[in-house]
Amino acid sequence: MLTVDEALALVVQEVRPLSPVVCSLRDARGCLLAEDLVADADQPTFDKSLVDGYAVLTADFRADSGPVLNLGESIMAGQSPSRPLAPGETAQVMTGAPVPDEADAVVMQERTHASEGKVRFDPQSVYPGMNVLARAGICRAGTLLLASGSALSPPALALLASLGQSRVRAVPRPRVSIVSTGDELVEPDRVPGPGQIRNSNAIMLESLAIDQGAEPRVLPLAPDRRNELREILEAGLGADMMLVTGGVSAGQRDLVPAVLAELGVQCVFHKVRLKPGKPIWFGRSPGHQKSQGCLVFGLPGNPVSALVGFLLFVKPAIRMLMGRPPLSAELESVRLANDFHHRGDRPTYHPARRIAAPGSAGGAAVQTVEWAGSADLVGVANADGLAVFPAGDRVFQAGEIVRFLPLG
Ligand code: AMP
Ligand code: MG
Repeated sequence: MLTVDEALALVVQEVRPLSPVVCSLRDARGCLLAEDLVADADQPTFDKSLVDGYAVLTADFRADSGPVLNLGESIMAGQSPSRPLAPGETAQVMTGAPVPDEADAVVMQERTHASEGKVRFDPQSVYPGMNVLARAGICRAGTLLLASGSALSPPALALLASLGQSRVRAVPRPRVSIVSTGDELVEPDRVPGPGQIRNSNAIMLESLAIDQGAEPRVLPLAPDRRNELREILEAGLGADMMLVTGGVSAGQRDLVPAVLAELGVQCVFHKVRLKPGKPIWFGRSPGHQKSQGCLVFGLPGNPVSALVGFLLFVKPAIRMLMGRPPLSAELESVRLANDFHHRGDRPTYHPARRIAAPGSAGGAAVQTVEWAGSADLVGVANADGLAVFPAGDRVFQAGEIVRFLPLG
């Protein structure tokens, strides 16, 4: 059976970034820019006041004196000066307003006294450029502002908007179909009949996918019946990725791998040495010129198995589709706060909670939570992530360093 690392390497081999598209700034949030962004003009395009106050000539301020100057025009943000400033004159300017030609400084309103067409300045030192953002003080026309491949963070989007770009070329969000399979499932707003359970996987995977920047679509519940299952899975294959839960183990009604094969989805691997989540299935439908096909993950039905499969394999694949490296450097090394007896021939991903490390300043520590296994959402909903215990029977002592896969 494949190890986690071997399986991840196979996933990485299959994924290419999606082709860039032109979209609105809002849709591009968090995506990667797919073009160089170059300044088409100086920023700012005019000498701009940084404060509410009075534009002056520094030559009128001798030896920190406080001169009295004649008040000329008032320039609000959005207006333009009508003429250059003359010696002995001042002009009122608001924050963001253009400073008149010849003026070389702005004195803050708070250090001035205006009355009857004159402005008296408190004694102070005034130097050229004071409280003025000079034309091209941010950048010159032609400067590379954001390189292709940069993340479109909120300030990056603001920069685009400031340049008048309302659309941008970016790597798009992967469209992800989510299919929950199982005759026993009812929607969360229903009361389960005998032997039935509520579908909890769909909302979990939908949220996880959104958190990664993907655009999920939840399909109707799929029963464990070949024809209906095939119809729903076929609809899901139109996306860039499909997440199917349940029906991938060795049970009599575990039809997902066979139905996917009927639909032309080629299996890349089935089963990985880990706990929980061993029966995970991965494959892809053949691509064509315009698309690389659909990446398909069959995740075991138990919620914590599906979660582990998502964090270990689906999340890296989504990152790659979005043009990022598969792994964010986030598998942490943390101190274990309690003894933990591990048994089993597979590495185990056990829910654990972060705690303030006793006695060690600022050091991260985690404590394993009570957990009844892969169906137990209570334990994992009270956890911050999963502590990783390598295969083998042994007691991990409090204070030992273990690896930790964070949820958030
Ligand atoms: P399976 O992988 O189909 O053998 O399912 C394994 C276990 O997970 C069974 O107990 C299922 O009832 C449960 N299960 C399957 N799908 C879901 C789901 N969408 N939400 C919650 N539990 C599920
Ligand atoms: Mg099932």
